[in-house]
Amino acid sequence: MPRKSVKHFESLCVQPIRENKTTMPHQLGIQPSSAFYFDSTQKSIEAFLNQPGSHVYSRYGNPTVDPVAQRIADLEVLGSKLKAYGVLTSTGMSAIHITIQALLKPGDTIISQSILYGGTTELFNKIFIPMGYKQMLLDLRDMNKLEIALKKIKKRSLIYIETPVNPNLTCVPIKAICDLAKKYNTLVIVDNTFATPINQQALLLGADVIVHSTTKFIHGHGSSMGGAIVTKNKELMHQYIWPALKLVGSTSNSFDAWLIHLGIKTLALRMQRHNENALQLAQFLASKAKVKTVNYPGLLEHPDHPIAVSQMTGFGALLSFELKGKLKDTIQYMDRLRIASNAPSLGETDTMVLHPASSSHLRVEKSVREKYGITDSLIRVSVGLENIEELKSDFENAFA
Ligand SMILES: *Cc1c(COP(=O)(O)O)cnc(C)c1O
Repeated sequence: MPRKSVKHFESLCVQPIRENKTTMPHQLGIQPSSAFYFDSTQKSIEAFLNQPGSHVYSRYGNPTVDPVAQRIADLEVLGSKLKAYGVLTSTGMSAIHITIQALLKPGDTIISQSILYGGTTELFNKIFIPMGYKQMLLDLRDMNKLEIALKKIKKRSLIYIETPVNPNLTCVPIKAICDLAKKYNTLVIVDNTFATPINQQALLLGADVIVHSTTKFIHGHGSSMGGAIVTKNKELMHQYIWPALKLVGSTSNSFDAWLIHLGIKTLALRMQRHNENALQLAQFLASKAKVKTVNYPGLLEHPDHPIAVSQMTGFGALLSFELKGKLKDTIQYMDRLRIASNAPSLGETDTMVLHPASSSHLRVEKSVREKYGITDSLIRVSVGLENIEELKSDFENAFA
């Protein structure tokens, strides 16, 4: 029905503006509208029946957000015949939370690793366990242990993995875990934040669901918070994940989605440079007398190098290294860095350092973190896109 022209200031001020553009913008626009209008009730009925799909209300789906989620899903399966489905979430944490809550019920078991992104460990301990979920933490490089665990669990379970893991860069074999999980009818979720689809396509190795903190490499510029959930299983997305996201409401928004989209344009180029710089910095640090260990999956000496080679095409930007010395020496070293910033994030264009024991893993019990190499002298580095010689000299000068 054509809309009535109005005659009063109060009426004209509040009328929505509806442009009929005759040409299409070359680039994705920001569409902040909460709701989408229908020129007939019949169309509204059809749109509500076609969910997720047609746009009705931006918590359900949005014309800026949805294509960006689909771009991440397409990257995760590029080069294969698989089709993938994606949603964007408000943060990486909400992507993890929604995925687990959508796929598992209290009483069921989350099988995972003792060391994960600090927030994920805290999410399991402070939210899911008090709700009645069970947790089983294993070395997921050991398939015998995993099989014994899967046999023992009576109710449903899912396997939640992060590889390479924060901050000691341990890798677990995605394909072997997924093969075993299939045998026991268990889903595998992979946090692919560190690798990104450029370096590792976990869905192609058998994973059911991938979660991302797009805050990190996918956006890549440190100016947006976001997460993504991607699956190759349409039913999981449409019947479980999307409804949970819609009802909990931790959706993304058009502005953040638009920023994520800008970041993705250079993701492949950035990852290539991140991979090159990180490998060079890792080799440089490994040659230093004052360095005790360097954790980087691209180094031949790294215990999980063979696993990394089998499933990654590049080894990423993250490394950590342990200084010979005490807490005081480590803090002094970090404070002497001039190019690398001391900032608690990763995946940005510049190099960032962090002291896990006093920040991201502060709430992990000391005996547990030390068992996994997160000692007081461990420094985590997210290697940026700087000139590598300049970056090496920054890390060299800090030894002085
Ligand atoms: C940052 C991060 C998260 C959490 O993401 P947010 O966007 O901060 O909520 C989860 N997993 C990994 C590996 C991360 O680096």
